[in-house]
Amino acid sequence: MAAKISGSVLVTGSNRGIGLELVRQLSESLCPPNQIFAGCRDPNGPKAKELRELAQKHQRLITLVCLDTTNQASITEAARVVGAKLKDGSLNLLINNAAVNIPGSLAETGEKQMMEVFQTNTVGPMLLTKEFLPYLRNAASQPGAQSEMSCRRSAVVNVSTLIASIEKCPETFHGAPMYPYRVSKAALNMLTRCLAEDLKKDGILVMALHPGWVKTDMGGPEAPLSTEESVKGTLNVISSLSEKHVGTLLDWEGKGIPW
Ligand code: NDP
Repeated sequence: MAAKISGSVLVTGSNRGIGLELVRQLSESLCPPNQIFAGCRDPNGPKAKELRELAQKHQRLITLVCLDTTNQASITEAARVVGAKLKDGSLNLLINNAAVNIPGSLAETGEKQMMEVFQTNTVGPMLLTKEFLPYLRNAASQPGAQSEMSCRRSAVVNVSTLIASIEKCPETFHGAPMYPYRVSKAALNMLTRCLAEDLKKDGILVMALHPGWVKTDMGGPEAPLSTEESVKGTLNVISSLSEKHVGTLLDWEGKGIPW
């Protein structure tokens, strides 16, 4: 069954990997959202060629937005640009997908690596959610909005990972001893729980989602999942979110992951 995601959607880090596939499947869906904002650091640069071609093909649907999630000025400007185009000033779904990984054992990891990854993977989603909150609140409180929480009303999905699960660490650590990445995503999980508690009074559903181990620049060629499979599952999960999923961490098949 095709995922039902309507209204307006913003995806960060959408020029390659999972972000690009999210924009592709959203725009090519039989029942696409009304507006897709594709955030990317350098929309005119060589790394955004595929995204530009996709946006060209779906001109009425996709708006490219210059957005560096580690830069407050860039986030503020992106919110201004998106806000000016949003119908009723309402953003229904924010997908915080942009992230970096600097693989590092304890010996290889220093302050610089920890801070850089934390800035992108944890601080970025926090600043983004804060900046776009007025639009998410508008969406949740539209006169015609559903009373049920869902991605069609107002939601924030933080793209996290199984290897940020503290409980699963004994099983996952030795296969991927990535200090900066694991710690930053575990912090993203706590950010998710805090936002989920804070924003449920506004009708905004916040949760975290693990896309699986996926063949991308980050996941590497040995990953078992294609971006197509991962994103198909991910969009199905997002489209079926309801109140009971507030503050959860689910995988791309909808299975719960312990914190
Ligand atoms: P990629 O490395 O393939 O792509 C990362 C994307 O994030 C790129 O578009 C990159 O843009 C963007 N990005 C990085 N830093 C910034 C920034 N400061 N501002 C804006 N955009 C930025 O990663 P994936 O597609 O594999 O990962 C997507 C998400 O899925 C991430 O959150 C990741 O942690 C998560 N994930 C991935 C897994 C996998 O196996 N692939 C497993 C579990 C989770 P640019 O081209 O400009 O660098």
